[in-house]
Amino acid sequence: MGDQLNAHHSWFKIPTTDTLYVIAELRQETDYVVHHVQKVCAFFLAMRHFAEAIQKAGHQVCYLTLDDTQTYDNLPALICDLVKRHGCNAFEYQRPDEYRLLEQLRHFSLPAHVTRTETDTEHFLLPFDEITRAFPKGRAIRMEMFYRRMRKRFDILMEGDQPEGGRWNYDNENRQALSEDDLAAIPAPLTFGNDVSAILDRIRRHGIKTMGYAEPVLPWPVTRQQAKAVLQYFCEHLLPHFGAFQDAMTHRSPNKGSIYHSRLSFALNAKLLHPSQVIHAVLASHHASQGELPLASVEGFIRQILGWREYVRGMYRANMPYYARVNHLNAVRPLPEWFWTGKTRMRCLAEAIGQSLDTAYAHHIQRLMVTGNFALLAGLHPDEVDQWYLGIYVDALEWVELPNTRGMSQFADGGLIASKPYAASGNYLNKMSDYCGACQYRVREKTGPSACPFNSLYWHFLDRHEKRFGSNPRMAYPYAGWRRMPPSQREAILSHAETLLATLDTL
Ligand SMILES: Cc1cc2nc3c(=O)[nH]c(=O)nc-3n(C[C@H](O)[C@H](O)[C@H](O)COP(=O)(O)OP(=O)(O)OC[C@H]3O[C@@H](n4cnc5c(N)ncnc54)[C@H](O)[C@@H]3O)c2cc1C
Ligand code: SF4
Repeated sequence: MGDQLNAHHSWFKIPTTDTLYVIAELRQETDYVVHHVQKVCAFFLAMRHFAEAIQKAGHQVCYLTLDDTQTYDNLPALICDLVKRHGCNAFEYQRPDEYRLLEQLRHFSLPAHVTRTETDTEHFLLPFDEITRAFPKGRAIRMEMFYRRMRKRFDILMEGDQPEGGRWNYDNENRQALSEDDLAAIPAPLTFGNDVSAILDRIRRHGIKTMGYAEPVLPWPVTRQQAKAVLQYFCEHLLPHFGAFQDAMTHRSPNKGSIYHSRLSFALNAKLLHPSQVIHAVLASHHASQGELPLASVEGFIRQILGWREYVRGMYRANMPYYARVNHLNAVRPLPEWFWTGKTRMRCLAEAIGQSLDTAYAHHIQRLMVTGNFALLAGLHPDEVDQWYLGIYVDALEWVELPNTRGMSQFADGGLIASKPYAASGNYLNKMSDYCGACQYRVREKTGPSACPFNSLYWHFLDRHEKRFGSNPRMAYPYAGWRRMPPSQREAILSHAETLLATLDTL
């Protein structure tokens, strides 16, 4: 699979003459959702490089392009044909992270004499067979508690049984906005000139529907060596400020919006890098700096990999397939057309979507608090929201996309992941970005033609879900604010929001 490119897997320890490794570009994978064109290019090129690397190491490899696999309806049809042609007695696969593929590989019919064996991908830190115990199905599990257990278990940033520095969490120090001087100091990202012209040609020839833009050279890392270079670059140039500017956003970013974020998600999800390799590189920088690197940055970054990444994989695995259908807030509106073009007058959304179409990347807060927040406030259908997120980002794979989108961002799981919805008015976006100053809407206005749509939609969201969230202690402050408003003001806000909800395509 394109997301199983781990050359250190025990499969590849010793070359054998009786094993054939099959890596195939498949229509079932290009077509299950409309992907960003850079995402298809990145996976195909990484697969090709991986095939060449293991072949060089002495393994027998069969690499099949779209041209070779076009006559097969799906992956099982291809496997059955290869089994027949090569006279195979055994079929072995690495366990896919995605439910869809796992079900397919576990259950398709093989000839009776062929054995089927499922092998671990040896990628995650929490062993697969511990997921059921750590994440009981249908139960709300908070990331923070899971993360603390993982810190203790793997002895990461610990002093005995206490967290290094005396605190588990430095989030409060990680919410700085960017000043003019900060903007000028942001380093360029480490990118590559990977030639994808042949892949673009194949995508065109096979009529594969994609979104977004791609140059014949792809900036994303597609080999282990390139991925390691991105990791090293992150530790040297970006990690020191990762924490402080983790939530900041700007339309003047000199590095295509990633600011001090690592851009490692594709390399991690394709399994070019192992999470413990990333964590230990960061810890090595931390120790070498002898206290110079802010602990808030080191802890903030490790929390993403050891905490969030492992946690969402557990929540996904434990709650599928139910999770893919939940719609707790009964959100029903279709995605406005401008999600596919970025052509909206709302500057924050135009920036986040435009950048995503250009680069197949947006950092976490752009995904959560700009596009995700808008979808939540506007009550967009989680199926449509999921399809969009699953397609547009270079790192998007269902096991990580779905819990982040349906759970964390849309609260469609009723709170299995988040203890309160990530809903915010224009005020939050104004605090964390410079988008509002360059917007046609006025962030301080709640009603009227130039009012920031996030404002009235925010109050409309609180009002329409008062039964669900009105007594949530974490929502007490905004609800108190809403109840304090004079009824005439509340009515005007709700009526303005209704008008916006009826005309989302025109915002
Ligand atoms: C609505 C929504 C959808 C998302 N969809 C995806 C997705 O399809 N694929 C994906 O890899 N991430 C997804 N994320 C999580 C996160 O936004 C991305 O991992 C991150 O932006 C990737 O950029 P980076 O490598 O520069 O991350 P950094 O900020 O540098 O973080 C380092 C690494 O930590 C991991 N990480 C950080 N946050 C999360 C998280 N919430 N869940 C899981 N891993 C995390 C990633 O592997 C990331 O590469 C989503 C978040 C939201 C809110
Ligand atoms: S004013 Fe509102 S719509 Fe415009 S950028 Fe700010 S938050 Fe977004």
